[in-house]
Amino acid sequence: MTETLDITVTKTKKSRLEETDFNNLIFGHTFADHMFVADYADGEWKNFQIVPYGEIGLSPAISALHYGQAFFEGLKAYKHADGKVSVFRPDKNAKRFNKSAARLCMPQLPEEIFVQSIATLVDLDQAWVPAKANHSLYIRPFMFATDPYLGVNPSHTYKYMVLIGPVGPYFSKTLRVKIETHFTRAAEGGMGYAKAAGNYGGAMLPGRKAAEEGFDQLIWTDAKEHLYVEEMGAANAMFLLDGKLITASTRDTILEGVTRDTVITLAKEWGIPVEERRVSVAEIIEGAKSGKLTDAFGAGTAATIASVGSISYQGEEYFLSDPKEREFSQKLLKTLDGIRYGNIPDTHGWNYIVHE
Ligand SMILES: *Cc1c(COP(=O)(O)O)cnc(C)c1O
Repeated sequence: MTETLDITVTKTKKSRLEETDFNNLIFGHTFADHMFVADYADGEWKNFQIVPYGEIGLSPAISALHYGQAFFEGLKAYKHADGKVSVFRPDKNAKRFNKSAARLCMPQLPEEIFVQSIATLVDLDQAWVPAKANHSLYIRPFMFATDPYLGVNPSHTYKYMVLIGPVGPYFSKTLRVKIETHFTRAAEGGMGYAKAAGNYGGAMLPGRKAAEEGFDQLIWTDAKEHLYVEEMGAANAMFLLDGKLITASTRDTILEGVTRDTVITLAKEWGIPVEERRVSVAEIIEGAKSGKLTDAFGAGTAATIASVGSISYQGEEYFLSDPKEREFSQKLLKTLDGIRYGNIPDTHGWNYIVHE
């Protein structure tokens, strides 16, 4: 950290910790006592504050609501057995935050501000980080446009905020997924690589239709031909095909996941060949039929490693092996958890310690 951020802290008068049921957490429903807020105006970030979590007053004309100048990040903090609290690879999220900002004509946020706002907030509310297997504190930084005008122009003022809240496992079962060949999430030249709010609103209808057909998730395909696999819901789709780890190479339509990068790094260290390239639907279906597709999962912060149980394509359902028997993703989960919860050495420097 080059400089210490001057943050004004206003603590809550009454903590909600006691009344929170940590055994029944629904993702995104529970918030810790505090949140972080900063304002952008006159070309600079200012008013760095930590305040009690709660409603904020805004004009109904803010351009975020009308034109979608809004985006977010997602990362997690973990509690170690010795009481330490660490955030997983926040530097990566800080960089991606600024990629999203650039695509949406929004201001850059210095990486130190991003990391320090999170570190200070999580440290203050460290009692909210669950000390339980598969549980963590979800961190949601986001930025949105606040100019109260209806002109379709980039805003001059913005808010940067961070919300935090305890979470349990995101998916509790093996997923039944469908390869989507009608709707698309992102197109070349679009903003699929940004965590833009609008990308997720647009994915809701296809997601609901898939759910109505009995699927847990869908696998997006390319906008042009629907012949190549892109992502799985809001996670990167990864496959172990013929002993090689295969995933879509990053480009306009692919969100460059921190989990994706972590999985690729570990796989390479374990001597598994990694191919980042275009992945065809045909080779995945062929692999599912022949048994050469020995592992398939979605990789993301919220979902962690979400195992795919079956893949449906053009009305046919192809079943994969029992996830518990899959050597690769089991080893991944064990290693990832081991590092995040401080039970195995963090040789990559992935854990950013916010509370000793
Ligand atoms: C957030 C996200 C991911 C996963 O990124 P992580 O950094 O691993 O959490 C993948 N795809 C999409 C579309 C996402 O929004």
